[in-house]
Amino acid sequence: MTGRIYVVPIHRPMVVNLQFLTEAITSRFGVPSLPLSLEIDLGRAHDRFRNQYHSTEILAQLLRQAPRDTLRILGLTDLDLFIPVLTYVFGEAQLGGKAAVVSCYRLKNELYGLPPDNRLLQARLLKEAIHELGHTFHLLHCDDPSCVMRVSTYVEEIDYKGDRFCAACEARLANILEDLLGAAFRKASF
Ligand SMILES: [Zn+2]
Ligand SMILES: [Zn+2]
Repeated sequence: MTGRIYVVPIHRPMVVNLQFLTEAITSRFGVPSLPLSLEIDLGRAHDRFRNQYHSTEILAQLLRQAPRDTLRILGLTDLDLFIPVLTYVFGEAQLGGKAAVVSCYRLKNELYGLPPDNRLLQARLLKEAIHELGHTFHLLHCDDPSCVMRVSTYVEEIDYKGDRFCAACEARLANILEDLLGAAFRKASF
């Protein structure tokens, strides 16, 4: 039994290159990744007092509409996301679950008064996408400064880390994927 990692653009045309992202996800996880269009009701996620979007509601809607062959489903948005205990989040994932979401909103230079830089935005988004998907495969935060599973609270911290797993996280991920996908999965696919 194999599955796919679907990437669902949720809000507005985005400057990010979706194909670059799905190809990178395919190569990091050794699982085919494809874009997918779904209707997400953003009104339900919007908090009018904070004027932000509750990421957990977006995860719930992704899960409800996920195709049968979904191994993981990743929402991609440029809305400002939050969870109630935090001021904002770059993204949210279900630890060991199927769904994750990431936002470009706080990854854009413009938000910090700097000139737009689409390459930098793309690089940041890739790191956060891989990071949140890593959580869905049970990976926790990692102390290795270069590891993509390093926690990032500020955008500068995203820039310091790499977009790949350290050896320890990579080994753990390979074990988890092999459990999930059985004999169909080979380490060689990384
Ligand atoms: Zn995290
Ligand atoms: Zn690591």
